[in-house]
Amino acid sequence: MSRFWIDKISGLNPYVPGEQPASDTLIKLNTNEHALPPTDAVLTAVRDITGDQLRRYPDPTAARLRSAIAVVESVSPEQVFVGNGSDEVLAHLWFAFLKGRRVQTLDTTYGFYPVWAALYDADLIEVPVLDDFSVDLDALKNAAAAILLANPNAPTGRALTRDTIAALADSNRDRLVVIDEAYFGFGAETAVPLVADHDNLIVTRSLSKSHALAGMRVGYAVAQADLIEGLNRVKDSFNSYPLDAIAQAAATAAIEDHHRLAEASQSVRDVREAMGASLEALGFEVLPSQANFIFTQHNTLAGRQIFDALRARDILVRRWDKPRIENWLRISVGTMAQAEQLLVVMREIVSTGTG
Ligand SMILES: *Cc1c(COP(=O)(O)O)cnc(C)c1O
Repeated sequence: MSRFWIDKISGLNPYVPGEQPASDTLIKLNTNEHALPPTDAVLTAVRDITGDQLRRYPDPTAARLRSAIAVVESVSPEQVFVGNGSDEVLAHLWFAFLKGRRVQTLDTTYGFYPVWAALYDADLIEVPVLDDFSVDLDALKNAAAAILLANPNAPTGRALTRDTIAALADSNRDRLVVIDEAYFGFGAETAVPLVADHDNLIVTRSLSKSHALAGMRVGYAVAQADLIEGLNRVKDSFNSYPLDAIAQAAATAAIEDHHRLAEASQSVRDVREAMGASLEALGFEVLPSQANFIFTQHNTLAGRQIFDALRARDILVRRWDKPRIENWLRISVGTMAQAEQLLVVMREIVSTGTG
């Protein structure tokens, strides 16, 4: 705290990301990074960067990347906005469309939403999820405010179908509906095809999880061109070059290599199903997940106890001290070998009952 801080800064309660330990001896299943590295095409694109590309400013409009995204999403480049991670895309989206407004989200969802709501003086309404962590759709029908949902939801992994999102956007034609698809690529349906006939819908994506590029920081939004133009106005009032030359090249290669991506995602789904079934056999309740993590609680042991016991054995997962979910753990889907190591340790913890 410094006496030069403005009041707003003193009052902030910033987002705390999952731990990024310096040691790589840990089994790191806490921040939903992809289990596998990006494809060779991506690594080649990074290696092929020239000194001249680094000497110059990057393309402020990221035209090549936006065209590549437009091709795979079947939209026009004017319907695509890119940013430094989808967190930046979302931050600009809050500034452009949600600042000072009433925004409905869920009480169990991405922990960054309340941070942006406070930063941008929005009135956040947190609709409780139902007991099985599914979305109370009636509460969102004819909402009193803009709607922001992560789909699949974090940290539950549950997903809404495209038809459900369409019904939501239809019954809220005069409210902005924001769908955060950070976990697209692991089984859920996307709302992107609905953008063509919904001028109130904006879909955000991340390359951090599906494309194994968390270290590169690239995200995007797809919406009708006038919404995208609003985001560009914010971006160009903040930082004209949010994506450096390396990130643009890597992300373009990753987007163009989407066939390889499908294989990598299939392997995540296979490990997810195997890990879920094995945990259930050990007395865990496992929510159905369409993401690259599972959300689970044990039927007798406390979440804190399991979290600490895993940590003591160098396995890092994520847990929140929030009343509704304090007994739950979010475990990223790693490689099959990591899942097997996790299960060996879980078996020990469950059989001793103490860890
Ligand atoms: C990881 C995540 C993000 C942020 O993704 P980045 O592209 O890495 O900034 C946004 N929303 C949700 C729900 C996430 O889990």
